[in-house]
Amino acid sequence: MPHPLVPVRSETHGVVIELAYASHNNIAGRPIYDFPHCLLHRDAERCLRKAVGLAAQAGYRLKIFDAFRPHEAQVLLWESAPDQAYVADPQIGSNHTRGTAIDLTLVDAEGHELDMGTGFDDMTVQSHHFSEQVSPAAQANRMLLLKIMQDAGFEHIDHEWWHYALPDHYALIDSAALGDMSPMRNR
Ligand SMILES: [Zn+2]
Repeated sequence: MPHPLVPVRSETHGVVIELAYASHNNIAGRPIYDFPHCLLHRDAERCLRKAVGLAAQAGYRLKIFDAFRPHEAQVLLWESAPDQAYVADPQIGSNHTRGTAIDLTLVDAEGHELDMGTGFDDMTVQSHHFSEQVSPAAQANRMLLLKIMQDAGFEHIDHEWWHYALPDHYALIDSAALGDMSPMRNR
């Protein structure tokens, strides 16, 4: 196997997948992936399966906005970000490019997103964990997601309620190693 990524699918993982960067609905205002495949490092995928089970115990499903992000996409995001404090410098590399980070929220039985106080990729202080500008109901929803993801083996970062990553350091994954799987193949 030339790379450690495995696909995550709604049918096999019981998740909702709506990859923001495969659509126009993102901070770049245009797709930065050419196909809507959700990929994670196999270690992160194992933790995600645990998170799916924990969420189900509370009556919820996970909805994924982003997972593996190729280096080329990280460059586009970096250039598009209104505030670069919220995007990893491509020179350093994002955990998304290591396949170990995931952006997600919780949805109810009808598929409605829980109120998290802001939308995904809202790069403001309201997106920070325990922001005082977020309602108690949204705080509680964020805390539920936090507990689920921590118990599944992920770590949070302070300024993005939707972002979780494995704590260990992994290597950046070169898009060239993806071959036919490369989301950037038609660029
Ligand atoms: Zn993220």
